[in-house]
Amino acid sequence: MQLVILGSGSPLPDPARAGPSTLVRTTAGDLLFDCGRGVLMRAAAVGSGAATFRAVFLTHLHSDHITDLNDVFTMRWVMSLAPNPLVVFGPAGTDALLAAIETMLEPDIGYRLAHHDDLRWPPAATVNEVERGVIFEEGAVRVIAAPSDHAPVRPTVAFRVEDGERSVVIAGDTVPCAGLDELCTGADVLVQTVVRRDLIEQFGLPRLTDVLDYHSSVPDAARSAARGGVRVLVLTHLVPAPAPGTEQEWLDQAAAHFEGNVMLAHDLLALDVTA
Ligand SMILES: [Zn+2]
Repeated sequence: MQLVILGSGSPLPDPARAGPSTLVRTTAGDLLFDCGRGVLMRAAAVGSGAATFRAVFLTHLHSDHITDLNDVFTMRWVMSLAPNPLVVFGPAGTDALLAAIETMLEPDIGYRLAHHDDLRWPPAATVNEVERGVIFEEGAVRVIAAPSDHAPVRPTVAFRVEDGERSVVIAGDTVPCAGLDELCTGADVLVQTVVRRDLIEQFGLPRLTDVLDYHSSVPDAARSAARGGVRVLVLTHLVPAPAPGTEQEWLDQAAAHFEGNVMLAHDLLALDVTA
């Protein structure tokens, strides 16, 4: 199994960081977690793409995590030579989201159907709204969901991908919580979205300070990793994006609470998850 951070950024546009999105390459195919800004550009860099994603998983419906889902939906359709519905798992509300995307794309769908003689079917998605338990199983691969805590955003889910003996947890945006702890127990890797509490408090901008109460800080992420006994913690969705030369501060803040390996994500960071 291989983990690729496609986008390590946040809602704040950054020339070097695409929006939140993670690819997990398994023996059952490529599983995409969230669809932030630029997801298909980054997927193309590792030879993956909309037509071949085995499934897409959404942790929650905040715009920065879904903004390019419409691009995935459209490219899945136009780059497939036969009907190939996009398989989507997400919290309650995902079905309505896909319906709204389809409505938004109505003119485009009409143009393309009228223009391409060999395209005789509209785009489609198979949506599964999930809350907890085993939600996907194929060969040696299982995906398990559990509720996360990103209140007042509700509902939200975290995921654990297992491929044989190896496992990766995709936490999404959440504060430490019981659902996340369940998923992390004994996992190889935890991918956690984080914010720097110390820096955001220094800025003192109310709209930014607001994000502190529903995200994990770096020490929060480290404590979640330590409780679960995970081997590797990957910090992503970095707010604010690390200024050059400050990367070690992030690692040190985590290392104070977690003895395993800590990695600070950049776009296209790839990690082989092996024994
Ligand atoms: Zn969020």
